[in-house]
Amino acid sequence: TTVGVIRERHPGEERVALTPEAVTRLTTAEVSVVVESGAGAASHHSDDDYREAGARVADTATVEAADVLCGVNPFTPGDPRPGQVLVGLFSPLHRAAHMRRLQAAELTVVSLDLLPRRLSRAQSMDALSSQANLAGYKAVLVAADTYRRYFPMLTTAAGTSSPANVLVLGTGVAGLSAIGTARRLGAVVTAYDVRPEARGEVESLGARFLELESVTGGAGDGGYARQLTDAERRAQQDELTARLSRFDVVITTAKVPGRVPPTLVTEAGLASLRPGSVVVDMAAGELGGNVATSRPDERFVTEGGVTVIGAGDLPARMGPAASAGYARNISAVLRHLLVDGRVHIDPDDEITGQITVTHRGEPVSPLTADQLT
Ligand code: NAD
Repeated sequence: TTVGVIRERHPGEERVALTPEAVTRLTTAEVSVVVESGAGAASHHSDDDYREAGARVADTATVEAADVLCGVNPFTPGDPRPGQVLVGLFSPLHRAAHMRRLQAAELTVVSLDLLPRRLSRAQSMDALSSQANLAGYKAVLVAADTYRRYFPMLTTAAGTSSPANVLVLGTGVAGLSAIGTARRLGAVVTAYDVRPEARGEVESLGARFLELESVTGGAGDGGYARQLTDAERRAQQDELTARLSRFDVVITTAKVPGRVPPTLVTEAGLASLRPGSVVVDMAAGELGGNVATSRPDERFVTEGGVTVIGAGDLPARMGPAASAGYARNISAVLRHLLVDGRVHIDPDDEITGQITVTHRGEPVSPLTADQLT
């Protein structure tokens, strides 16, 4: 079996699906790796590094002919052949048309974002978590860099600074990482999530849980949040708007799989913040975000002096660390799929059966079957 590593085409994307270290561990008598020239450059892995790790370095067409193709962002090989296996983060719930094209080409598509993350044996494959951990950390550093006061309470000869009040909305993996990072910088942290079980996790990190009355029982399937009703959404926005004004920094991470991210900070909410406040929207992407006016990869300052940062792709800009984590996740998935050196798709396996969107064009995962033909 040949495993191909493509060069990511997405602008600003620094990650690569397999690092040289991962190549070394993956290569066996039956499995060889071929890497597209320049694929690791933005993560500081040169073509020579890959050669030393035992991979071949080749042009696009050669790599795209491999039996298994690994990437980070959604991709389509130039000249796909039936049975070819694509592994990556395809966001299949948002990309039905793309999935149907790959299905029509009779490809096997394995998407790590469909992983049953609560299974302990799936943990090493959890790319959403490895990337969200980095993103939550980086979001706080971006906020701290933009905020023009101290995060910690500091006493110097010039007096005592008061600590920053940080609010984290959405306390999944990214939110918890943000809470920990903001606490380590000395901020006073408050956090909120619709899932009731979030409270304990927030408090164990030394943050205060924000109590809202607008939503009860916000948990959905698989540990994720459910989509709120319109009435709940409006009530949640109103309650949050009323409470935002005392915070200096707001970091939003709220998502619901397959849905447009909920708007948590409205224009009225932004207007209530003090001049100099900073809002980082980690949900900002092609589907929208948690902040009414945020735009992906853009920052602007409101008339009221609040800086709003659309930061949905922070892992893409932490190439070396993000690739190291992602490569371990991809390697674990490949090891799970490879039996005697060949990819074996067992639809009855509780991991394979959920992460495989299509196998040779046949729908497999129950999570995506209804959007395929
Ligand atoms: P995510 O990225 O889908 O969403 C981020 C957070 O936003 C979630 O906590 C969600 O509850 C919250 N959210 C959604 N809508 C909201 C709203 N209207 N208002 C406020 N908050 C809202 O989530 P994630 O980080 O991928 O984590 C999802 C779940 O999976 C969590 O329960 C997490 O603990 C769990 N998880 C478990 C494991 C494991 O058991 N090994 C591993 C990873 C994640």
